[in-house]
Amino acid sequence: MCAKMTVDLEGLKALVRDVPDFPKKGIIFKDITPLLKDGGALRFATDQLAEALKELPIDQVVGIESRGFILSPAVAYRLGAGFVPVRKKGKLPAAKEVIAYSLEYGEDTLEIHRDAIQEGTRVVIIDDLLATGGTGEAVVKLVEKLGGTVFALAFLVELAFLRGRERLAPYPVHSLIQYS
Ligand code: AMP
Repeated sequence: MCAKMTVDLEGLKALVRDVPDFPKKGIIFKDITPLLKDGGALRFATDQLAEALKELPIDQVVGIESRGFILSPAVAYRLGAGFVPVRKKGKLPAAKEVIAYSLEYGEDTLEIHRDAIQEGTRVVIIDDLLATGGTGEAVVKLVEKLGGTVFALAFLVELAFLRGRERLAPYPVHSLIQYS
C-alpha cells in the first residue's frame, strides 16, 4: 500500500477534469474519474458527504444512475442507511414509477421501484453533479409520489452559475465542490 497525501476540498477540486465539448459542443463536462481513482480523495469525498448528512434521520439514500451510483452506496454505508437506485428507462425489473425530465444537455426518463419507498420513508438524494437541478427535481417528485420525505440533496460538484440550488428550494442542498 502506498502512502496517501492528505486531501482537502481544494485538493478535491483540483482532481475534477474539464472536458470541453462532451457529450455535445458547448458543454464543459466535469469529469470526476481522476478524483475517483485517488484513494485518499475518494475516501475524503465520501466522508465529507456523510458528515454533511449525518444528523439527518435517514432511512434510504437514493442514488441517481449513472455517476450518482458511485458515491451514494458508500455514503449510505457510512450513514447506516439503505440504498435505492433511480435508473434510466427500462433497467428496473419490477413495478415502477416513471418520470420524464430535461437536463443540461437533453431529455431523459428516470424510474424507481414502487416498493423502494413507503409512506414516511426518510430520504436523501445523491448525484455526482448539480447543474440546472432538473434531475434532482425529477427524483424529488418520484420519491414524494411514493410517499417518501426528502430531507436533503447532496452532490460532489455544483455548477452554481446554473442556479440548480434555487430550483431545488426549499430542500437543503449540500455540495463539496462549487463552480461560480
Ligand atoms: P441537471 O439535471 O441539469 O442538474 O444535470 C445534472 C445531471 O446531468 C447529473 O446527473 C450530471 O451527471 C449530469 N451533468 C449535467 N451537466 C454536466 C456537466 N457539465 N458535467 C458532468 N455531468 C453533467
